[in-house]
Order: sequence, then structure tokens, then C-alpha cells
Amino acid sequence: MAEKIGLQTLIDRSIRNMGAGIHSVVKESAIEMIKQAYKEDIYVQITSGHRSFAEQNKLYAQGRTAPGKIVTNAKGGQSNHNYGLAIDYVLLSADGKKTLWTVNEKWRRVAQIGKSLGFSWGGDWKSFKDYPHLEMMGGLTLSQLQAGKRPVLVSLLSNKVSAKPIKTTPVKSSPSKSTSKPKTTSKKTYNLPSGILKVTKPLTKGSGVKALQEALAAVYYYPDKGAKNNGIDGYYGPKTANAVKRFQLMNGLTADGIYGPKTKAKLESLFNK
Ligand SMILES: [Zn+2]
Repeated sequence: MAEKIGLQTLIDRSIRNMGAGIHSVVKESAIEMIKQAYKEDIYVQITSGHRSFAEQNKLYAQGRTAPGKIVTNAKGGQSNHNYGLAIDYVLLSADGKKTLWTVNEKWRRVAQIGKSLGFSWGGDWKSFKDYPHLEMMGGLTLSQLQAGKRPVLVSLLSNKVSAKPIKTTPVKSSPSKSTSKPKTTSKKTYNLPSGILKVTKPLTKGSGVKALQEALAAVYYYPDKGAKNNGIDGYYGPKTANAVKRFQLMNGLTADGIYGPKTKAKLESLFNK
């Protein structure tokens, strides 16, 4: 039997492929993702990370003014990779000799681990699905990046918050499940409550809490992903507080799990454009 590829080999190759311009939080989260997947006998390699504008332009030329197949629709500055905030991954065979591009349960599991570490996954996109792609935008849009803004990314690792693997709910492949996924965020608005919400006894319940949960889920901070209705139940319990905390962490807010005016404003900035 062929020897299993070493964890360190996967990490070393991935670091090289991510490039020096990769954001440090993206990099360390990617490495953690590789480690967690390895424990589950899933062999992940990062194929791409930061790309300079020149590299992006060269890639854009491929299939247009240069030989090859078209691989991107983004010119220099138009890809989140150009800002060091995105990575692409592929699975390898156990011996590390083959790349496996099939989007199967293992592939999705890697995305799930990535999301638990703060990444958004291109496989969740509605219009165009980019299954190898993971990114951390810290709540910023591409146009904000192009205008010179940079996100404040807070590592979920150094803050020791929920880097633990998420509960594995068996992967459901029924298409009905995917239609209940959040819609593209841009158009929908949420009637977010004013005031403070935190875990109380008895739990605070109401339509305001529900609107908050729905808004969080729409940007992939589910109260309880995989649970009934992804945990959207109108109760401000520990899982909702945890979702708020993760959202706050990734958006440069004080991560206390208490919903208040700043969290409201940040959430609204994502939807009500
Ligand atoms: Zn990508």
C-alpha cells in the first residue's frame, strides 16, 4: 500500500501556493482547516491564494489573447484573490499523487470546516458556484477593496472561539434542502430590532430575534446550522449569541455575543445598500 502523504507536506505546499501576499488570518485559518481535515482522512491542498494584479491579468488573458481555456472573468483588481483574502483548494488522494476535483461529501466537509473557521464558501453562491473557493472579506465588498479599504480580520483561532469542528450533521444531498438556503443577500432587508439582546432567563423571544437570526443566517452565521430551520426559532439563546459573536469577530466588533446598535448597523450595512 502506498504511503500516506504527510500533513506537513500538504501544509508546506499550501503555504507556497498561497503566496507571500496572503492575509495572515486567511493563511493561519487555511492551515488549521488542512489540519482538521487531515484528522478525518481528508487530504486538502491549497492551490491558489494571493494573486498580484499582473498575475490576475495574465490569467484573464488565458483563453482570450493567450492560449488555453478561459479560467476567470476577473481582470487585475477584480478578484478577491488580488487582495490576499481568498484561497482555492483541491482534495488529494491518500498518497498525494492525484488531485480529486469531484465535489463530494468530503469536499463539502472541507468547506464546512472552512466556514467554521470564518471563511465564506464559493459553493454557497447562488448565481455562479465556485466550489474550490474560500474567502474572508470581513464584511467588505469588492468595490470597497478597490476603493482602498481593507478588512479587519480577527482570527477565530487566536481568539480561541469555536475553532472546534462543528457537529457533523450527516450531509443531506436532497435538493429540497438547498432551496431553503439563504437567498442572495443584496436585495432582502431585515427588520432588525433596536436595543440590546443577550441571553436572559427566561430567553428573550420574538420577531425581532427572528429577524436577527435570519439576517445572520443570510451571511452564513447560522444559529445552529443543520438543525431544524438552521436554529432560526426566535429565541435569543446561547447558539444565537454564538452566531452574533462569530459575526462580531469577523467584522471588527467587540465579540461579546450581545446584540446592540453596532452589530445592528454592521448587519444593515450588508443588506440595505
Ligand atoms: Zn478562488
